[in-house]
Amino acid sequence: MSFDKIRKGNTIFTDKFKENKKLYHDLVENGQHPKVLWVGCSDSRVVPEFIVNADAGDLFVIRNIANIIPPENANETCTSSVLEYAVVHLNVEHIVICGHTGCGGINALIDGTPEDTKIHDWLKHACSAKETAKSSGTDSLELETIKENIFLQAKNLLTFDYIETKKNNDEIKIHKWLYDMNTGTISFFDDLDNDWFPLN
Ligand SMILES: [Zn+2]
Repeated sequence: MSFDKIRKGNTIFTDKFKENKKLYHDLVENGQHPKVLWVGCSDSRVVPEFIVNADAGDLFVIRNIANIIPPENANETCTSSVLEYAVVHLNVEHIVICGHTGCGGINALIDGTPEDTKIHDWLKHACSAKETAKSSGTDSLELETIKENIFLQAKNLLTFDYIETKKNNDEIKIHKWLYDMNTGTISFFDDLDNDWFPLN
């Protein structure tokens, strides 16, 4: 992929913009009202809007290495300010934590990273997922850590009082999803059956 492809890509997009003028103009006139906050990985291969065929205005998005939500007491402001805006001001009704197979962030967590790096600091927020996966005695540490990390980050969401309150009042739903890069399909974790199932 050359940078030129990206630069010229805007010409292609502006054609599509004209074709979908009504959608884009509505979003300008009436503002955004997304129902879904998407928490995904920064990985270039896992593009939220592509994998669920979403339009502009459908998803409010947080993307970072390994789809992490630092807990409230971590006092991290980038992720938590997006959360606050989406939940308190936009009143999203769903939060999707979407991990993915082959996650480089999770592999870095498993393999270890130099201690004096920002990536090392960041991945601390996923560390207990690795420990839980290890102690499960799994023969697929990578996949198990990816799944445990999704559970951990979904749990971290509830360290924010306003999310916990809305969840208890059934005003917001938290979804645990796993995207398979080999097939393009998504699985979801069903809390009642305690297992993963295909989304469709
Ligand atoms: Zn990733």
